[in-house]
Amino acid sequence: MGGIAELLKKRWGVVLLVLGILAWATNVVGPAVLIVVASLSVLYFLLSAPLRCIAMGRQGRCRNNANGLLRGCWIREHKWQGAKTLWGSGPEQDRNSVLAGDRQQRSATLGVATGVISALVACADFVFK
Ligand SMILES: [Zn+2]
Repeated sequence: MGGIAELLKKRWGVVLLVLGILAWATNVVGPAVLIVVASLSVLYFLLSAPLRCIAMGRQGRCRNNANGLLRGCWIREHKWQGAKTLWGSGPEQDRNSVLAGDRQQRSATLGVATGVISALVACADFVFK
C-alpha cells in the first residue's frame, strides 16, 4: 500500500482532476464542485507537481527536482525561473524548449490545459443549465 499512498501524495492533483471529471460526467457532483476541483488541480500543476527544474544555467538545463511548472529547485536564483520563463521575460526559444523538451513538463502543461478547460466547461454548464 505504501506505493499507492506515495503516488497519491505526489500526484494528488492528477487523481483529483480525473475523479472530479468522472464524478461530474456521471452526474455525481454538480459543476460548482468541478470548478473547485479543476482550479485546485491547476494550482497543483503550477505549484506542486513533481517536475525537473527548468532554469537554464551556463551548463544547460538545471536538472534538480522542482515543484510545479512555475517553480524551480532549491537554488535561490532558480526559484521563480519557471514563472519568468513561461511569463515571457526569457528568450522565445527557451520557453519553447521548456514546454516541448521534457515529457514531465509536457504532461504538466497538458494537466494545466485540462484543468482550465474543465473549469470553463463547468462554468458553461453552471450558467446554461
Ligand atoms: Zn534549478
